[in-house]
Amino acid sequence: MKTVQVNIVTPDGPVYDSQVAMVIAKTVSGEIGVLAGHIPMVAPLSIGAVTLKKENGSQEVVAVGGGFIEVRPDQISILAPSAEVAADIDLARAKEAAARAEQRLQKKQDDIDFKRAQLALQRAINRINVHEGNI
Ligand code: ATP
Repeated sequence: MKTVQVNIVTPDGPVYDSQVAMVIAKTVSGEIGVLAGHIPMVAPLSIGAVTLKKENGSQEVVAVGGGFIEVRPDQISILAPSAEVAADIDLARAKEAAARAEQRLQKKQDDIDFKRAQLALQRAINRINVHEGNI
């Protein structure tokens, strides 16, 4: 099976760099599965899980906080505001962030704060799901 080089980069630095057989990512218009040799493409990502399927059948999952995926035939780059491989996710922190966001969503507030709390809740739920392998 052909493989493609995948790197995931955030403002804090590189998070993932490996050869994989397939990448599954959640774009704003739906989930995509990308194999080596794919035609060039750029798409915005939702807050969600990126699944990296290796040639040997194993897989790794990374929680990304949005950003962009850039596909080229031999290289896939994901630029994200935040990204954590499942093993690096601090579950207690994500649960606290979810609880804080839920509290903020209960309060009366302006639209911007409401949207920010919704996004914080989505990031936290995504991290919890990826940490628990619940994707
Ligand atoms: P928090 O309120 O806990 O900071 P957040 O969603 O506001 O969560 P981000 O702004 O998305 O956090 O990320 C800030 C930095 O902290 C990033 O480097 C991100 O990878 C890291 N990070 C955030 N939450 C976690 C977590 N639960 N486990 C590991 N790293 C995390």
